[in-house]
Amino acid sequence: MTSRSREIMRRATELFPGGVNSPVRAFRGVGGEPFVVERGDGPRIWDVDGNEFIDYVLSWGPLVHGHAPPRVIAALDAAMRRGTSFGIPTEGEVALAEAVTERMPHVEMLRFVSSGTEATMSAIRLARAFTGRDVVLKFDGCYHGHADSFLVRAGSGVATLGLANSPGVPQSLASLTVVAPFNDLDAVEQLLRLNQVAAIIVEPVVGNAGFIAPDPAFLPGLRELASRHEALLIFDEVMTGFRIALGGARERFNVTADLTTLGKVIGGGLPVAAYGGRRELMELIAPSGSVYQAGTLSGNPLAMAAGLATLEDLSPAVQECIATGTARLVHGLRESAMRYGVPLTADCAGSMWGFFFRAEPVRSFADAKTSDVERFRRFFHAALDRGVYLAPSAFEAAFMSSAHDDAVIDATLDRLDDAMRASK
Ligand SMILES: *Cc1c(COP(=O)(O)O)cnc(C)c1O
Repeated sequence: MTSRSREIMRRATELFPGGVNSPVRAFRGVGGEPFVVERGDGPRIWDVDGNEFIDYVLSWGPLVHGHAPPRVIAALDAAMRRGTSFGIPTEGEVALAEAVTERMPHVEMLRFVSSGTEATMSAIRLARAFTGRDVVLKFDGCYHGHADSFLVRAGSGVATLGLANSPGVPQSLASLTVVAPFNDLDAVEQLLRLNQVAAIIVEPVVGNAGFIAPDPAFLPGLRELASRHEALLIFDEVMTGFRIALGGARERFNVTADLTTLGKVIGGGLPVAAYGGRRELMELIAPSGSVYQAGTLSGNPLAMAAGLATLEDLSPAVQECIATGTARLVHGLRESAMRYGVPLTADCAGSMWGFFFRAEPVRSFADAKTSDVERFRRFFHAALDRGVYLAPSAFEAAFMSSAHDDAVIDATLDRLDDAMRASK
């Protein structure tokens, strides 16, 4: 039996640490070898051996219209023919920025960058400059990219590998990051009293410790505490932006952050991210202000075109339809678990969803870690064998796209029901 995937991964392992260019891709959280993908179309992907999967990872969030959506491909094709990069202002940047600010009016001004890591790193620099303070408050299990300041209790990728922290991060820098449990306002208040905190940064709905929703009082409480202690509130919406609602956390929870970071969906599968917020803050960024941040490929015309086509096709009606499909999938998954007596808690927000093998609801990363990870591994592989690709870690959210129609969701539920039975 020959496997192209195995052969390519053997070559990859010689060239890349762990055979991959981003750690969770290596399947360390579930065991076994990753497959090598050849192409995608709508809700489906095919590996180089011809196996077909319904995809709920969707490039870890960006692909809100599934793979190779015709409108995005057409926009890319047109942009590409005009040239791939200039390093000179283009109208595409303005058009995408207008599409963002229209949906998120609290983002009065923004700056495009090329990855979520850059967005959060820059937002923190700005918060530190504005407040004249050094300490950043984050939450256990939240991931904000791999900048040094954030690799402290940083969720999925780090958790999957069992690393509490990362070597190479200077202790002097790590000590400027303080960590509270998610959904714990008392802990936040205590940290704010003890430290000169520049910013509280949070995933408004956690997707990097598995899917964890905020308690109703949590985000309003953070807003109030941040204001009282003169710290900025940063919503890291790299994952939740354009997914939990078109207007993100502000629309869904009616809480407004001072700064917002965006990524993933905003680039429609190309490398785009952004940070933005109140004008008085953003005007501190160079060249209008003195906080330095730059990027050769920032605002890249291909990336802008893909992002704009993606947002234009994500109307309120389309968003509603994806959210309905997501809720139906989650409901069906719960029914399967009940049918086989499997303890499971599952939840969703807009087009983001997730589940844990644990009977009680999960409110924090500590809760998440008590879920049955062994059962997740069995379920993941049983689902994969039946043609459903879930994130290869018990601590990742799943996604839905406008390409996952009712027939695709029904097929998924049949397969996951059988996977639930088989992995019981
Ligand atoms: C993915 C993610 C990031 C990092 O984005 P990259 O583009 O991978 O650097 C930051 N914050 C959150 C909430 C994310 O989900």
